[in-house]
Amino acid sequence: MKNLNHKNLYRLPWSLSDNGISWLEVTTKCNLRCKGCYRDPLKDGHKTLQEIQEDLDVFKEKRVSDCMSIAGGDPLVHPQIVEIVSMIHRMGWKPILNTNGIALTENMLVQLKKAGVYGFTFHVDLSQNRPDAPKDASTEGDLNVVREKYARMLQKIGGISCSFNQTVTHKTLPQLTEVYKWASKNIDIVHSVVFILYREPGMSPHLESYVNGQKIEMPYSNTDWGEGGILKAQDAVNVIRGFEPDYMPSAYLNGTCDPASFKWLLGVRMAQGDKTYGFVSPNFQKIIQNVSHYMKGKWLSYSSPKMGTAGRMVMVLFSLIDKQMRKIFFKYIRENLLSPWNFFKRVNLQGFMIIQPIDFLEDGRQNMCDGCPDITVHKGELYWSCRLEEIKEYGAFLSTYPKQKVCQKSVNDLVLDTIKNQTLVQ
Ligand code: SF4
Repeated sequence: MKNLNHKNLYRLPWSLSDNGISWLEVTTKCNLRCKGCYRDPLKDGHKTLQEIQEDLDVFKEKRVSDCMSIAGGDPLVHPQIVEIVSMIHRMGWKPILNTNGIALTENMLVQLKKAGVYGFTFHVDLSQNRPDAPKDASTEGDLNVVREKYARMLQKIGGISCSFNQTVTHKTLPQLTEVYKWASKNIDIVHSVVFILYREPGMSPHLESYVNGQKIEMPYSNTDWGEGGILKAQDAVNVIRGFEPDYMPSAYLNGTCDPASFKWLLGVRMAQGDKTYGFVSPNFQKIIQNVSHYMKGKWLSYSSPKMGTAGRMVMVLFSLIDKQMRKIFFKYIRENLLSPWNFFKRVNLQGFMIIQPIDFLEDGRQNMCDGCPDITVHKGELYWSCRLEEIKEYGAFLSTYPKQKVCQKSVNDLVLDTIKNQTLVQ
């Protein structure tokens, strides 16, 4: 299977100061204990509305973004979540709730819609031991009934973007197909799916960490969730291509150290149900992002459910200016000549994203997401949300070095010191 080349895809123009998304944490409390969760639920608790307002003011001052992901902990356990959504909406962001969904009721959903919620990203996966999972659930596909329950709740209210995310490990990597196929069939109610490749510090045993010059033990213990080694975005692409050979991402964010790494990798299907006509081109992404920035001054992240139903118009318009989109349009015409009633059915757009979080390189460098969309505020400053515990615990991010190199460096320093001392004495 041919590997992706980042130079053939569109690099999303997102940066620290001007991004598609920002990440607001409103509580550390949660009603689940997912394996490998990076936030300590016993620390801090709920933020007050005043503290949340202060965080939002910092975002307003330092960063432009289209959406505000509301996260935690689980944001729905915050008793003032409706007011929080309303504050974010009033300040001009699209409020997106990142939740496990457990606390969501129909009544709460109605209130959230009135407050201006734009979308939900439901985290559903096997790491959670969910109380609403089927008793005998043993694969990710067994949780599709749970996913469908939330997608139908949103469908009933209407006009809310519906996404799902899940962590993916070596064990669950092949099961990604079960979720992909389910989402494909339900393209009218599932607008995007995000596969997050699992990481924990124990997966890089060749490194040791330092903070403020002091050596410290890696902060998180190993979990069985991390078994099998480190997955890369290409691994997930290969699995998807096993049953959807034409799967072709169009846009990405690279790493801060490795420009060829895919930290966020986005492919968008154009399809009727599980019948895929093709994947939008890099040029499509480029035009959409730049038109959004020209018209609204913001890079686009979540689009409206209505836009997701405009696949046919997108195909027709972009086929005039782009070869890849023209190919998709001709395929759509060809395949429906014998069943022309399909021309009256909607063609939907559906996103599939792969996120490859921190990679520790052999020399100890940390390859983060360049233009991280999930930047959060803590005490007035912006930080990567995935590493906020380090700031809370030590006041700084950890530096990592290969174990042997640190020893070797110490030896070299000793030798240098000795030579220096001898020179001084002479
Ligand atoms: S750097 Fe961390 S917080 Fe930012 S997008 Fe990557 S994984 Fe998420």
